[in-house]
Amino acid sequence: MDIVFNCPNCDQELAVDQTGAGTQIECPACGQHITIPASGKVTTGSLPSAPQAPPPAASPIASSAGAKVVLHLKVPVHDTPAESLIGKTKPPLEVVQKGAGKRLRSHSIRHASCIENGHDLFDEKVSEFLQEVTETNIVSIHTIGYEHFDVGIQKILTDYGVLVIYRG
Ligand SMILES: [Zn+2]
Repeated sequence: MDIVFNCPNCDQELAVDQTGAGTQIECPACGQHITIPASGKVTTGSLPSAPQAPPPAASPIASSAGAKVVLHLKVPVHDTPAESLIGKTKPPLEVVQKGAGKRLRSHSIRHASCIENGHDLFDEKVSEFLQEVTETNIVSIHTIGYEHFDVGIQKILTDYGVLVIYRG
């Protein structure tokens, strides 16, 4: 009858003849010196609570060549194929588009609202706004016409302006 246990170092499943219980062996998988448990199916994953007691001083019997237990260590062969190590396919990198993540906005600048103290600041205001938005965020610029009531001359005037569609 075999004792089946896992190497505490590399977790390799090992089977060894019951006569080997309690003896130290060299793991065939990782080469670590391990002690064969008295019974099989050692729980894996939990570390021993206390450091393994040092092997008792070799008794005269154990150290004698005649008492040496010859172990036939074997690694059980599993029928199931090893878990494939195919890495998860990463989704293609999203092309970062300029202005991505920004909202589409509109801003209109009316010519009439750019007159300050008799000075026509329309071009200046438009330039200022475009500078602020920056060229890469500008989607389109449209001219607009509108009518407004001029309080000064008490007349309805047709005026112009621009409508800027941008991302921001
Ligand atoms: Zn091992």
